[in-house]
Amino acid sequence: MSITVSNITKTYGAQKALDNVSFTIKEGEIVGFLGPNGAGKSTMMKILTTYLAASEGSAAVAGFSVEEEPKKVQFHTGYLPEHNPLYTDMYVKEYLGFQAETYGIDKSRIVEVISQTGLTPEAHKKIKQLSKGYRQRVGLATALLHRPKVLILDEPTTGLDPNQLIEIRELIKNIGKSEEHEKTTVLLSTHIMQEVEAICDRVIIIDRGSIVLDRSMEELKKGQQQIVEVEFDYRVETVALQKIPHVSKIENPGGHFVYNITFSTEKDMRPSVFDFAHDNGLKILQLHQKNTTLEKLFVELTGARK
Ligand code: ADP
Ligand code: MG
Repeated sequence: MSITVSNITKTYGAQKALDNVSFTIKEGEIVGFLGPNGAGKSTMMKILTTYLAASEGSAAVAGFSVEEEPKKVQFHTGYLPEHNPLYTDMYVKEYLGFQAETYGIDKSRIVEVISQTGLTPEAHKKIKQLSKGYRQRVGLATALLHRPKVLILDEPTTGLDPNQLIEIRELIKNIGKSEEHEKTTVLLSTHIMQEVEAICDRVIIIDRGSIVLDRSMEELKKGQQQIVEVEFDYRVETVALQKIPHVSKIENPGGHFVYNITFSTEKDMRPSVFDFAHDNGLKILQLHQKNTTLEKLFVELTGARK
């Protein structure tokens, strides 16, 4: 096992931030640690990275106990904290050099992580001149410097604009998959369900200090429904729409030519809707696909506190 958490409880004064939490993560898995604000995600990550001691229970990372062998855990773990403190007056290269020196890492590694995290065009700049997205890349580059077996990323995309967000997600996915990092285990926290869908193999949902769901994405997607909202240029009979494969429900809420078609399949059904329109001489004016099930599940499990 790459990460083993056994009955971890953490109290801050009278408050239980984690309540008897257990899970294991295998080598090479990319796991989303999902939960609303205050659920206990950062607390768990701080315990796994040895920055915080648990009140009860035990945990091991890369085979080493966090309480007994914290140095070994740190050696094998790359950590991107929630509020990543960067020395903003330093140049990117200088900062990574300083980090490499602190941890006794060969300087040749700096160029590698700069290129791997897409920092090359910004490498000559001062950190304070970088956008939030590029600062996150510097944080990721730092976390990767010592070729860790386990990456722990605390809300790596929070505060990024939509383009930066997509880029950082791609980057994390690639780290999980690349040759060099073949067996890298990634645990990333987020409060966004779509983020888990975009990056992870598995999701662990935590709410008020307890785990409420632990399942592979494959398994989750099996029972998933998908709603395609489509507007045609003309009226369509419900019976005709029902001939499209996997249709389980058809709604025509506004009475206009807008239909909500629910499909019981994980397969993207938009092409079939296009084919239907084409075969019936209809034009599609609008089309949206909504995968509602995972989002709903998250809201239900975490009590929909917004
Ligand atoms: P998340 O990262 O999921 O938002 P945290 O692990 O940061 O959640 O926090 C879990 C709970 O513990 C919250 O209610 C938070 O207010 C509380 N908490 C976190 N850190 C401290 C601390 N140093 N002292 C007291 N309470 C804390
Ligand atoms: Mg947090």
